[in-house]
Amino acid sequence: MIVKERLMDMFARMRKFSAQGEGPGVYRLAFTDADWQARGYLTGLMREIGLSVREDAFGNVVGRWEGTEPSLPAVMFGSHADSVPNGGNYDGVLGILAAIETVRSLKEDGFCPEHPLEVALFMCEESSRFGAATLGSRAMLGELSPDDAKRLTDRGGVALYDALKDRGLSPDALGKPLYEGDVKAFFEVHIEQGKVLEHEKKSVGIVTGIAAPTRFRVKLTGSADHSGATPMPLRHDAACAAAEIVLDAERLATAEQEPPAVATVGVLQIAPGVMNVIPGGAELGVDIRSIDGATKKRVADKLKDAVSEICARRGITFEIVPISDERPVAIRPAVLDFLEKICREDGGSYMRLPSGAGHDAMHWAERVPTGMLFIPCRDGVSHNPEEYAAPEDIVNAVRLLEKAVRAASRKNVTFA
Ligand SMILES: [Zn+2]
Repeated sequence: MIVKERLMDMFARMRKFSAQGEGPGVYRLAFTDADWQARGYLTGLMREIGLSVREDAFGNVVGRWEGTEPSLPAVMFGSHADSVPNGGNYDGVLGILAAIETVRSLKEDGFCPEHPLEVALFMCEESSRFGAATLGSRAMLGELSPDDAKRLTDRGGVALYDALKDRGLSPDALGKPLYEGDVKAFFEVHIEQGKVLEHEKKSVGIVTGIAAPTRFRVKLTGSADHSGATPMPLRHDAACAAAEIVLDAERLATAEQEPPAVATVGVLQIAPGVMNVIPGGAELGVDIRSIDGATKKRVADKLKDAVSEICARRGITFEIVPISDERPVAIRPAVLDFLEKICREDGGSYMRLPSGAGHDAMHWAERVPTGMLFIPCRDGVSHNPEEYAAPEDIVNAVRLLEKAVRAASRKNVTFA
């Protein structure tokens, strides 16, 4: 049985693993002392519940329960335990504690899995320290090289490569997949980090896909003329063009309904930035996301067309500089149906929804049947000391994870 007090006690302990004297939130940046201590605590818990624990060259930890047929592919579930600076106590933590409590509960019930079960603790999921996210998962799957580890540095100039060495890990072993073996399915429980579940009054969300951003800069060059002496028809105002582009980004993303898209102009600078000069230059940073690659591309293409039209009309020159174009992942219908059946039979409220944020699960989703469950977090707040999830929602999601793992560990359950 999933025990609420036991779960809450683990959350309380995790909160204490935080750099001292920083602030009210959790400071557990990847590979710092606080992160390493939390990893030690979680590894100890895995041993305590009878898992055989192994770590890879990147420091990722896998606790394994052999099951009755060790040669079968494993059912894996887990998450990360590092945090952003001044973060909360639920992002990532929920997923790894849910995994540990699931195994503890199954063992207490005398359950015997047929497929092996594996609890995974992924290192360095947050981009806060080294500027790139989900590095542990990428390392596990062979998508991170020793050169990447040398190139990625923190604010203090410490390379990921050296941070790994300092922890006695082996960055030179990166490049080939660190995880050897077959995975039947991967599951991750996470807080939503958004407001949809709370708004819809649902206690759990079944993630339909994980969005990935397309980002580009738009540089506009107009004419920086006197704001008093230049009549309106003779202006080439870069800020006015930028304003139109911002609203077009909003309009184009809003028009995509099924699947939805989001577009944000989070960076907007105008030059020279004085009140008596018409803005001659503007620069916008555009971020477009969807769980569907074609939808995302359509919004990006239409926005680029809009930029061209707006600039032509206003006599402004422009340049579009690509920053990134990552691939979103869709969750397989068989996994969605599998999780939905569990939620429906359980009787609680649930809905399907996309994930706007990236997660460790997205790397597994491209390779193996992967499912994610979200729970509401208060006011959608995350990456913040105010991050909060209700104990009843936590317990509910862990119960659902246990049911999913229980079912997936049977040979006769497939995700074909
Ligand atoms: Zn997370």
